[in-house]
Amino acid sequence: MTEAVTVSEGAPAAAEFSAAVAAIRELAPTGRVLLICHVNPDGDALGSMLGFGLGLRRLGVPRLQATFPGTFEVPDPFAALPGLDLLVSEEQAEPEPDLVIVFDVAAVSRLGALADRLPRARATVALDHHASNTGFAGVNLVDAGAAATSVVAEELLRRLDVPLDAEIAECLYVALATDTGSFRFDMTTPRVHEMAARLIATGLRPGEISRRVFDSRPFGAMKLSADVLSRAQLDPTAADGHGMVWTYATLEDLERHGQRPYVLDALIDPVRCVAEVDVSVVVKQLAEREWAVSLRSKGAVDVSAVAVALGGGGHRLAAGFTGYGTPGDVVTAVRDELGKHLIP
Ligand code: AMP
Ligand code: MN
Ligand code: MN
Repeated sequence: MTEAVTVSEGAPAAAEFSAAVAAIRELAPTGRVLLICHVNPDGDALGSMLGFGLGLRRLGVPRLQATFPGTFEVPDPFAALPGLDLLVSEEQAEPEPDLVIVFDVAAVSRLGALADRLPRARATVALDHHASNTGFAGVNLVDAGAAATSVVAEELLRRLDVPLDAEIAECLYVALATDTGSFRFDMTTPRVHEMAARLIATGLRPGEISRRVFDSRPFGAMKLSADVLSRAQLDPTAADGHGMVWTYATLEDLERHGQRPYVLDALIDPVRCVAEVDVSVVVKQLAEREWAVSLRSKGAVDVSAVAVALGGGGHRLAAGFTGYGTPGDVVTAVRDELGKHLIP
């Protein structure tokens, strides 16, 4: 499936924020609100959705659910987030919501079977920060300059006069910390640190949150990581000589170590640290010939463009897509695209 790509520039206009505020304020007392984040949810997807959901709860929105498509499993690092009681599985999600709000979703394809809620809802609002966002919602609050979707969520909560409390703040903080790589990536602007300061001022304990979110994993996940890293391959001539490193993880790897699929999402971090190359790739098995692919660049290649060319999306330096065939087939497809999307 291909979707038109509109690159959004700058922060959403005030009119867009006003339309989103109106959609929420104009809800009937019995209005059903469904919050949805992307499949295989990460810290930003869950954190921005649950933080905003807690804000709506503070506003007194009574019929409120949060959900995501696919297997109903919250990754362990996020299993203690406030607001988890808002979560329902895709099967339990309201079939006919009045208002749908989606988080961290660049394209309808990331909503899986829940995409059918959009045309059924009276109003739809998207909060996002992907430059590749297709503008699929009625109201699109897309800020490609924001480090995380939670930046947009905080702004909308402010415009709804919902004060930050420690629970909302923890969710938004986890979202911000995960999408900025703990405040290390390029998007870590003064604005990001100012937001972090507002969040921490509610009484958060960043050390404790970081241990839970980043620095805790099962023994089996560590052993699995060793196996997957040991089969990594260096390809110095890829991307016109900027180089690529890649590895893959199979369902059999998960089974052998008794691990759940989300543990594979952390593997891109050690791989992207390889000094000799610009591009890093982790190919993670979803089904027999289907793979979730993570792409990272240090600045020489626009991996978002690579991912879009291969049916996915993301950000310039962090993107992904679903690939088919063997891991070798998938990596060959990536390699063939890299040289076409060098950043001048
Ligand atoms: P990941 O490698 O899973 O951490 O994803 C990196 C970035 O790429 C995130 O911003 C994702 O939203 C985006 N992304 C990953 N997989 C896909 C996909 N299949 N389609 C569109 N965007 C994706
Ligand atoms: Mn995300
Ligand atoms: Mn995000």
